[in-house]
Amino acid sequence: MRCLALNASFEPLTLVPVRRALRLVIEGKAEIVEAERDQVVRSARLLLPRPAIIRLVRFVHVPRRFRRQVTNTFLFARDEYRCQYCGRHQFELRHRECLTRDHLVPVSRGGGNLWGNVVTACSSCNTRKGNHLPEECGMHPRVPPVEPHFVHLAWAVRRLTDTQAKYIRLFYGPAAVRALRG
Ligand SMILES: [Zn+2]
Repeated sequence: MRCLALNASFEPLTLVPVRRALRLVIEGKAEIVEAERDQVVRSARLLLPRPAIIRLVRFVHVPRRFRRQVTNTFLFARDEYRCQYCGRHQFELRHRECLTRDHLVPVSRGGGNLWGNVVTACSSCNTRKGNHLPEECGMHPRVPPVEPHFVHLAWAVRRLTDTQAKYIRLFYGPAAVRALRG
């Protein structure tokens, strides 16, 4: 199990290996917010509780560049694994169909790989849309695409313990936890 690292503002940042979390605590860069009950970790001189949540002592600015990157893993997670045109979930796709990345403004017509221009589409809808703009073919995404908050991306493919989920809920509200857990 990994340790949830919070920013000084309590904003959930990422999951780190327990050893790295301990090093941050020993170096005075982080404090333990919650530890696993009845579990200790030994280092050369210290006996420490096994951290489940740590909080950085100093606020860390999260670079914008990280937030802008579009990968299919995060894109499909943002769109909750549903084709944004026909609405089918990936589990409802037929044999030989798959989820793909569709560009609202096609790349061939100058569209970019930006969060606001990409949506999850099943391969059939993607083929049907082809090189058209949404207005030209009457295919509009169910949810207008926006750049997701980076934390949703970071968590989309990871498992949270109940204690860790509590901190996500505190910061982002219960809807964020539900979305992350699908
Ligand atoms: Zn579709």
